[in-house]
Amino acid sequence: MKIRLKSLKEGHQILEYSSSRSDLNLTDNYFNSPITITLSINKGSTEISINGEIQTIADLECDRCLSLFQQTLKSSFKIILSQIDPGAMNCDENIISFSSNTSEVDIIPQIRDALILSVPLKKLCRKSCKGLCPKCGANLNIEKCKCDTTFIDSRWEPLKKLLINVKEE
Ligand SMILES: [Zn+2]
Ligand SMILES: [Zn+2]
Repeated sequence: MKIRLKSLKEGHQILEYSSSRSDLNLTDNYFNSPITITLSINKGSTEISINGEIQTIADLECDRCLSLFQQTLKSSFKIILSQIDPGAMNCDENIISFSSNTSEVDIIPQIRDALILSVPLKKLCRKSCKGLCPKCGANLNIEKCKCDTTFIDSRWEPLKKLLINVKEE
């Protein structure tokens, strides 16, 4: 996605785009729904500030029960386009320098980063997901299996003995 600098007017404006996984070169298979991008742009004489809001519905797989579910993801990003060259001091990748000859600026990397960051680390179909039975693999949200999963962690055995000894003394 490229912003044509010549077509921007001075002052504030809002641009809306509907994008897709292939437009943004996203390789994750989370993003199959349209990706809405809203840009709030302020154009000054030497600087253009862009506040972007992204929203989409992601296809995720539950970490506990492995079922597929959809979740709305929202993210935002900020870019400053500046005609003043920050030189070697520029360590902020959200500041992009441009000259009066620059006709367009590609903002796909910023959109992609913001989207990928919005994917939750822990993907759960619901907070109370019961997951799969460790013995038979049954989805415990749907069915109740007859497996006995109350096992004693052997690491606690020595401690247990200790407790018994204390009682006996
Ligand atoms: Zn689940
Ligand atoms: Zn089971």
